[in-house]
Amino acid sequence: MATQIKAAPKVGMVSLGCPKALVDSERILTKLRADGYGLSPDYAGADVVLVNTCGFLDSAKEESLEAIGEAIAENGRVIVTGCMGNEADVIRARFPDVLAITGAHQYEAVVSAVHEAAPPTRGAFVDLVPEGGLKLTPRHYSYLKISEGCNHSCAFCIIPSLRGKLASRRIDAVLREAEKLVAAGTKELLVISQDTSAYGVDTRHEPRAWQGRQVRAHMTDLARELGSLRTSEGIAPWVRLHYVYPYPHVDDVIPLMAEGYLTPYLDIPFQHAAPNVLKAMKRPANEAKVLERIRNWRSIAPDIAIRSSFVVGFPGETDADFQYLLDWLDEAQLDRVGAFRFEPVEGAQANDLPNPVPEEVKEERFQRIMEKTAAISAAKLAAKVGRNIPVIIDEIGDADEDGSVGATGRSQADAPEIDGHVYLRDVAPSLKAGDIVQVDIEDADEHDLFGVVA
Ligand code: SF4
Repeated sequence: MATQIKAAPKVGMVSLGCPKALVDSERILTKLRADGYGLSPDYAGADVVLVNTCGFLDSAKEESLEAIGEAIAENGRVIVTGCMGNEADVIRARFPDVLAITGAHQYEAVVSAVHEAAPPTRGAFVDLVPEGGLKLTPRHYSYLKISEGCNHSCAFCIIPSLRGKLASRRIDAVLREAEKLVAAGTKELLVISQDTSAYGVDTRHEPRAWQGRQVRAHMTDLARELGSLRTSEGIAPWVRLHYVYPYPHVDDVIPLMAEGYLTPYLDIPFQHAAPNVLKAMKRPANEAKVLERIRNWRSIAPDIAIRSSFVVGFPGETDADFQYLLDWLDEAQLDRVGAFRFEPVEGAQANDLPNPVPEEVKEERFQRIMEKTAAISAAKLAAKVGRNIPVIIDEIGDADEDGSVGATGRSQADAPEIDGHVYLRDVAPSLKAGDIVQVDIEDADEHDLFGVVA
């Protein structure tokens, strides 16, 4: 009689929210895979469904609740984790049948909830887990989380109360993870945290031994070491810094861009420019100095792409404040801008501020900032027509009727998921995702570039 081997239980995953939440999902799945679980791409094939939620804005909470509702309707066996897990009572009130609820970064708690809901079969094979862990992003780029939490208290943000004070990872652990990712095929590392420029402040930048020398837990040391890694083909990975709070010492990483350690890209959320709005937001308020700094950055690393985000309609923002922001943007000429209408987040200090901005004014300001930043972006991209620039390939397209194949990639100014693309025509059949090629730029629109491999 043949021995019956019980099939491994399968887990479905719905991952919502920011790249930080995505990193959490990958960690959870990596652990579950090591415990012998299979992954199900659909609800029907899953023994249990994990919903990794986002609880930052009220709109994100609603999206999370809808995702939980869908998973319950489609599968019925649902475990909730992530930021919204901190509001277990809200979830339970709406979905009493949820099996378990855990908060953000409680990896062990999520994994044991899965064990309970769908016990693992014996004899899991650890080698089912590929080097670098299981990833939800394409193999050629990876998010690298360096810390949790934040020591600031920006008036519109509840992250410090959701995720606590800054807690930095050891520099040697971060570098080991990055080294593994690069060995496993990652060509682009995206450094994320709540506050990347504060890395190591909580550990007094504690140095650790790394490849025979002492390296500090500090943004500049980290950037230099990441930029020194090499793929098996000897290629230096692109390294992007995200969520960089505008401290003065950010100036120190700009030379590393000129020296080739860092990709000339800085994601630095300024949030506003008008001094009294910044003050009310409890953000650093020396915006004139910021313009001077940006000019200096561009003189050191002329190709630097600066991405930022801004909140419009913050309580007390006057017409003059908003105009100040538009004029500031004319001066700053930022490459990529995300704008958000102020939304009161439950528990944020800003909710108690006087003079809320009426919804229609918020909307009108939002449209105006979007128009302004789209025009700046279009002009900046138009200036790239005729240049030859490096592009990382994300996806190869299907062949057209005439047999020609296109591809989608990104320039060094484009982070995945948030920025633009470079659309390539007539690529060689040998081209593949993760290749970095030189491209002649032929055309541009508001957000994207178009070109051909040189
Ligand atoms: S620095 Fe970022 S994460 Fe920290 S409180 Fe401000 S907005 Fe929130």
